[in-house]
Amino acid sequence: MIAAVVASLGFTACSVDTSGMEEAANDLEKQLEEAKEEIQEGGDTDTIDPSVSYQCPDDCENGPVYDKPGPCVKCGKEMEIL
Ligand SMILES: [Zn+2]
Repeated sequence: MIAAVVASLGFTACSVDTSGMEEAANDLEKQLEEAKEEIQEGGDTDTIDPSVSYQCPDDCENGPVYDKPGPCVKCGKEMEIL
């Protein structure tokens, strides 16, 4: 009887651990993919100057500036160097 309870508890703990590990593995895979993408985009890092700021050409966010180029989160226009 006790052995059966322990066995079922052990099984439950095992399956929980496994799914947790799968999740962690998926997270790791995602992080790896993101890291790879960053490496692939590495050529662009030469053009990213940390001392410059980027802002929407329409300033539709009323001021916020970014340290990386990219589309404006509001209107989607490519941000300009200030
Ligand atoms: Zn904008």
